[in-house]
Amino acid sequence: MLRRRGLAGLLAAFAALPPPRGAEAGTGATIVASGGAARLAVTLSPGARWRIMAEDDPPRLIIDFPGAGWRGPARLAGAGPVRAGRAANGQLVLDLTGPVQLRNAAEADGRLTAEIAPAPAAAFARAVASGRPLAEGGRTGALPLVVLDPGHGGRDPGTIGGKGTQEKHIVLAAAQELKRQLEATGRCRVAMTRSNDRFIPLGDRVAFARQRNAALFVSLHADSAPGARGASVYTLGDGDAFAAALATRENRADIAGGLRSSSVSPEVQAILLSLMRQETRAGSERMARLVVNELGDTVPLLPNTHREAGFVVLKAPEVPSVLVEMGFLSHPLDEDALRRPDHRAKVARALTRAVTGWLARTPGAALAAAPGAG
Ligand code: ZN
Repeated sequence: MLRRRGLAGLLAAFAALPPPRGAEAGTGATIVASGGAARLAVTLSPGARWRIMAEDDPPRLIIDFPGAGWRGPARLAGAGPVRAGRAANGQLVLDLTGPVQLRNAAEADGRLTAEIAPAPAAAFARAVASGRPLAEGGRTGALPLVVLDPGHGGRDPGTIGGKGTQEKHIVLAAAQELKRQLEATGRCRVAMTRSNDRFIPLGDRVAFARQRNAALFVSLHADSAPGARGASVYTLGDGDAFAAALATRENRADIAGGLRSSSVSPEVQAILLSLMRQETRAGSERMARLVVNELGDTVPLLPNTHREAGFVVLKAPEVPSVLVEMGFLSHPLDEDALRRPDHRAKVARALTRAVTGWLARTPGAALAAAPGAG
């Protein structure tokens, strides 16, 4: 991205220096059409290190061989979304017809293989902006990151039920169980905004997910709502009076975090943000529908189970986000249920099905993952 031009130029200058004698490198490559995608195969010298970076303006993938260089042909025929390949500055550059994602990048028997498929512009922009490799030698196929956000904590207990149950403890226990179940699927990595009883400002929870390039953000609560019971799920929006009152109570804990600062021009930033927000909103709503379906088979639901509200923790422009009220501690039946580990495990099973269903239906979710993040 623009703000990285200076550094990129410097790195290119270093890369243009001849690699040290005997350094390992890529020695050949093929690009063949595969459906609407392109299948890339790169022959590696023994021990070669490699990484694949995304760049835009114009869109391209850079295959870099740290400490060595590209020793293959100067030009390669393209296929699918790859217009052509070329040697440049000791790297193999794949010029693209548009935004792409990398799938199934893997290294075996001295060959790096990957599938390059068209992808949403916002997902590609996110990969470029992260500045991190899409894949790198030995550490390929990074799993998407799901951030779990147990609400409240520390000096903020959240809702306290009639039997003295504190929301901050219930949601942390539920998040830990959900983390365990999600990791057991092997389909995603999981990070938690807090894993102990401490206060975290709302804006920091959002920043936590954004800094780690999270594919999905799930906030867990069990608040109070006079007379109401049952689970419900919230995505960002104006919403109804009931949801607005809930969000107002939640947001009182903090003030909103700002947009990520950037030296990208305001016009470009506005376009990128608008693209990202559309995609993020669609992703959030898809997740909310899955949560409603899965929880509906498991626990009582609040009527109009999916609602919109202006929760601060849902405001990351590029991370699809939902807030799940697992029930209301203000209702004695919900409080009794949420105190029980077996009930929380049941809720976690439903949410695990929703998350894995969402990952399977979301193109680019794996692209949001960056090796070494989280
Ligand atoms: Zn809460």
